[in-house]
Amino acid sequence: MKKYRIAIIGAGPSGYFAIQSLLNSANEEIDFQIDLIEKLPIPWGLVRWGVAPDHPKIRTVGKVFEKLANDPRVKLYGNVEVGKDVSIDDLKKQYDAVVIATGAPIGKKLGIPGENLKNSISAAEFVPWYNGHFDYTDLDIDLDFQTAVIVGAGNVAMDCGRILAITPDELQETDLAAYALEKFKNSKVKNTYIVARRSLEHAAFTSAELRDLPKLEHTNVIVDQSDVALAHREIDLEKADKELVHNLQAFTEISEKSKPNLERTLEFRFCLTPKEIHGKEKVEGITFQINRMENGKAIPTDETLTISCGLVVSAIGYETQSIPGLKLTNGKVPNENGYVEDNLYVVGWAKRGPSGVIGTNKSDANEVMHLLIEKLAQPKEMNGIENLLPGNLKIINQRNWEAINSFEIAEGEKIGRPRLKVTNWEEAVNIGLQGNQ
Ligand SMILES: Cc1cc2nc3c(=O)[nH]c(=O)nc-3n(C[C@H](O)[C@H](O)[C@H](O)COP(=O)(O)OP(=O)(O)OC[C@H]3O[C@@H](n4cnc5c(N)ncnc54)[C@H](O)[C@@H]3O)c2cc1C
Repeated sequence: MKKYRIAIIGAGPSGYFAIQSLLNSANEEIDFQIDLIEKLPIPWGLVRWGVAPDHPKIRTVGKVFEKLANDPRVKLYGNVEVGKDVSIDDLKKQYDAVVIATGAPIGKKLGIPGENLKNSISAAEFVPWYNGHFDYTDLDIDLDFQTAVIVGAGNVAMDCGRILAITPDELQETDLAAYALEKFKNSKVKNTYIVARRSLEHAAFTSAELRDLPKLEHTNVIVDQSDVALAHREIDLEKADKELVHNLQAFTEISEKSKPNLERTLEFRFCLTPKEIHGKEKVEGITFQINRMENGKAIPTDETLTISCGLVVSAIGYETQSIPGLKLTNGKVPNENGYVEDNLYVVGWAKRGPSGVIGTNKSDANEVMHLLIEKLAQPKEMNGIENLLPGNLKIINQRNWEAINSFEIAEGEKIGRPRLKVTNWEEAVNIGLQGNQ
């Protein structure tokens, strides 16, 4: 039996699905010892730091991750950053194959004047802030105004809009970070716009998320019937993609179920390209160029629209973060079907960019792992990561992470919340290490 050592960098969905694929491929001839290296002391990637706190069902995929992590052939090295604590080159020498699964955490910029004003932020900051990511707890955000604008036409934009538009009581039932809950309790935001560059039929929202919107009890979700009618004229329902037809149905339902008596609004606006963010020290408004559509393209007209607002969140995409020794092209790790070079592979958002749902990473990782297995030579029989790490590093293993997990759930129970997230890195490490006792 040949036993191969594989290092996976990044404990997000694509990392876990890569593990699943490798373990499923083990047989009498080959088996694997897998080290999962994660820079944070808490795993699960965007399942914890991205997925909206009011959608807890999506997070149940974590059970699959935990089952994989408890396989004796898998070892978690949390609180270990590749590129800082250990290099990719050293890992390549110590493992039969190394898999990059580091995601795409950097928000794309709008590239317009005023973008650097206070309260002009990216979803790549806003989302991890409300989800309690250690690196974003200090985000200086002010919710002392009536109107917020989200720029973007995908589910991330919708999450940001919905979180701003629902009530603090609705947020209280979630695992939103405690400091963010406090901020939202004092928020004066009543009107939130989600603004897209092209017309409704080109938006990348998914229908399941759209269908949930009319169920919001305290928020009037608005889409102009003329936008829906225009999309109906443009689309041949017989020939159109199923998801698009479902989106149109969902938008039609939203447009027909307006609840004008409610004080809070979440409003979709289409055919607007952001031109400039205004304000002296912080955001006071945003001006858009009004577009007309021609063959699926947004063509700017001479007209503009200005929305007075105190917050602009751009949700227009993500890019991969560079790691020393790793080249990037167009915000991704250049690859051929997941193969990068030598014994190096890439999966997930670092490979494809920010596209697809959690499940997309499963089929994607599976294909790449089959390629990896095909290319394996004789096992190297090296020591793996242990000898590469500085002795003073506080490594968080699976047992340590489970201690953090139990602590958070127990603390949440005390105050009637599903979980009270630990949002201080050092504290998380210390709680985790108590799991060794
Ligand atoms: C705001 C938001 C909401 C979403 N909501 C949903 C949803 O509701 N449903 C759904 O199906 N999909 C959702 N998605 C998409 C889903 O989260 C992604 O498809 C998925 O997380 C991508 O997985 P990944 O493993 O490639 O990246 P990630 O989930 O980002 O995981 C990457 C991991 O690598 C680690 N890492 C990074 N650099 C290093 C390093 N140098 N060394 C060690 N570790 C490192 C990170 O800390 C992280 O844990 C959402 C995405 C976002 C951004």
